[in-house]
Amino acid sequence: MAGDIDPNSVGPQTLAVIAGRDTQRQFGFVNPPVCHGSTIIYPSVERLRDRKVPYTYGSIGGPAHETLETAIAQMEGGYRTRLTSSGKSATTLALLSLARAGDHILVVDNVYRPTRNFTTSVMGRLGVETEFFDPALGGGVSALMRPNTRLVIVEAPGSQTFEMLDVPAVAEAAHAAGAFVLMDNTWASPAYFKPFAHGVDVSVQAATKYIVGHSDAMLGSVTTTRELWDDLDATYKVSGICVGPDDVYLGQRGLRTIHVRLARHMSSGIELAEWLQQRPEVAEVRHPALPSHPGHALWKRDFLGASGLFGIVLKPCSQDAADAFLNALRLFGMGYSWGGYESLIIPVDPRSYRTATTWNANGPALRLHVGLEDVADLKSDLEAGFAALAAAG
Ligand SMILES: *Cc1c(COP(=O)(O)O)cnc(C)c1O
Repeated sequence: MAGDIDPNSVGPQTLAVIAGRDTQRQFGFVNPPVCHGSTIIYPSVERLRDRKVPYTYGSIGGPAHETLETAIAQMEGGYRTRLTSSGKSATTLALLSLARAGDHILVVDNVYRPTRNFTTSVMGRLGVETEFFDPALGGGVSALMRPNTRLVIVEAPGSQTFEMLDVPAVAEAAHAAGAFVLMDNTWASPAYFKPFAHGVDVSVQAATKYIVGHSDAMLGSVTTTRELWDDLDATYKVSGICVGPDDVYLGQRGLRTIHVRLARHMSSGIELAEWLQQRPEVAEVRHPALPSHPGHALWKRDFLGASGLFGIVLKPCSQDAADAFLNALRLFGMGYSWGGYESLIIPVDPRSYRTATTWNANGPALRLHVGLEDVADLKSDLEAGFAALAAAG
């Protein structure tokens, strides 16, 4: 079952259920076995020599890895996928496989902050020059291309500030200049953005977020086109960047329900975003699914949905008042990461790290992750926060 269904013949929700699953290879079980192990015993010296066995060594992956790798590749529309220990190590693997000394890389200014810092520090030490660009440029990045531009790194929307980006236009400009596009596709997940249908060459997922979906494991994935696969896979096999079977199992388990979870994250997120737009304490709501968002048309054209992550900017208030707001919240936990079933909130300070664009908002900026709770309860929680803000003001 499942293993013999053509993934191109079914709808996206069916694909999330069947992708990578082959019950005949799983002793009939619905889910893949979790094989713990470093060593895999070869049946003969001939098979050891030709390595034509399903699995070769613990760090290269086992049955659970293969299931999730196949599923992510099919859902994102790429050629193949490798799994890593986190979203960060997935980006590290992709960069180590693609960039070489002497290369110039273009990085969108609203990229995930550790990616920004990794390119300027580690990749800089290895002889790669990083230049940041404004996400509003879109196809205008062609003006920044140099003969040695190897890679353009994008994210849409930015996970703290939520500007959209014209991915196909950037891809066209990059390809015309002989460069590749690496996208961090974590915000939309494989369910809501299909990177390879929009010109992306390498897609990275912080599977820690919506794929795992329950805040109980760290996991990353790198998916590439056929053209870039051999380099990626060779780097993977020598780098030791890998992940154990328990976390992979949690990732494949989470992936099966990603469509129902995201549908709720999306509807609750939009409902709260619209409600926040009406609040007198809020200066701005930054959510691409709202028609007032400057990137709304791009989101509507290219994305199949929205996740539960968006930003707000409060009207200017004292630090004490903003702190009182956050400290009064009970359902919105204060914590990094997102993509689990629970609501989260975090203050952000884009002014402190951007270089190609300026952040002009005067009031405190906050990032919300809307979880699977009742929206009425989440509104009550935020109302308590606003009452504390007014009392402290
Ligand atoms: C969290 C995150 C990452 C890194 O993922 P980890 O699994 O925490 O290392 C990368 N990109 C984005 C957009 C993220 O939100």
